[in-house]
Amino acid sequence: MKVYFDNAATTAIDPDVFEAMKPYMLEHFGNPSSIHSHGRQVRTGIERSRKMVADLLNAAPAEIFFTSGGTEADNTAIRCTVSDKGIKHVISSKIEHHAVLHTVESLVKKGVKVSYVELDDKGLVNYDHLESLLKNNPNSLVTLMHANNEIGNLLDIERVGEMCDEYNAIFHSDTVQSMAHYVHDTRKLNLDFAVGSAHKFHGPKGVGFLYINHENKIHPFIHGGAQERNMRGGTENVYGIVGLAKAMEIAYSYMDSHRKHIEGLKTHMIEKLKASIDGVAFNGVSNELDKSLYTVLNVCLPPNDDNDMLLFNLDIEGVSVSGGSACSSGSSIGSHVLAELNRDQNRGAIRFSFSKYNTLEEVDYAVEKLAQLYQPETTSA
Ligand code: PLP
Repeated sequence: MKVYFDNAATTAIDPDVFEAMKPYMLEHFGNPSSIHSHGRQVRTGIERSRKMVADLLNAAPAEIFFTSGGTEADNTAIRCTVSDKGIKHVISSKIEHHAVLHTVESLVKKGVKVSYVELDDKGLVNYDHLESLLKNNPNSLVTLMHANNEIGNLLDIERVGEMCDEYNAIFHSDTVQSMAHYVHDTRKLNLDFAVGSAHKFHGPKGVGFLYINHENKIHPFIHGGAQERNMRGGTENVYGIVGLAKAMEIAYSYMDSHRKHIEGLKTHMIEKLKASIDGVAFNGVSNELDKSLYTVLNVCLPPNDDNDMLLFNLDIEGVSVSGGSACSSGSSIGSHVLAELNRDQNRGAIRFSFSKYNTLEEVDYAVEKLAQLYQPETTSA
């Protein structure tokens, strides 16, 4: 049996998304910047997609800018805000995705002061500390992710948005993991920037978008042609953009039923793991349904001599999972997120991340294989 439980890394493309993209790969090949009919037809596909995304986010089409993915969107929001608005102070956290963390770190060399908000033992943001940082540093840029890609912790973005409003801060949230899994109503959330990446919600890889609130004007990150209303030079990834919009439309149409299905898988896995492995625990708050991204369960295994080999052995059994961040899976560097939590570093960590395509049978299979592979540490007397 082959089981894919690494959906926070990337998801399988939905066949209906692929069908929507196909005409833009084969028939509609014109350059969207060309003014002849071949170009205009393709331009229509892009603008229709922009309107679809904007409508779902309760935003205006002029607030949506297509990019090559989440990393570029995060970089654009952070770097351009800092340079264009003369930001001297950035507030972030140590458990951000590297797309944000490394971007923020690079700003320090340019003289920007960075404060990291305190986190509790489980990686939850200390909102009082955040407020005191905002109070003491007017006109900051706040960049805090909505849903953590490794442990699934959710940020109260409404609350942070209100705080940023009160203290005149600009608010960017890396919403890559929550986009199209939750409804983001940009008219209600006080968000200046949000981001999406199609491959996290059954769309194609290499395409995403940046939402920029209309009150917020920044200059481009990628200079070149006049594409994306002068905000992002380069011929558009047309079929990617069409696929992104279709994937988002499908995700919104079935959001409640998919969520229910995935929460069922997660709950089942939690119960099965508790029944099969003594001393199993969970990293962050990933086992608390109301506080975590429903697609992610980060399992904390009791200390074991073979913990390092677990992912490898699961892979041999046909189960694809991740031990750390999606984008650094395969690297030997330990997780910077888990390192920030107050946890026993001798314990192994496995991130299971689910999608609409997973089944209860797959959960049973993965837990059975994990329990078989797992040998509790034999302590010598
Ligand atoms: N932010 C988060 C939270 C992510 O999980 C990822 C990808 O894993 C990214 C940003 C980067 O997105 P992309 O792969 O589209 O560049």
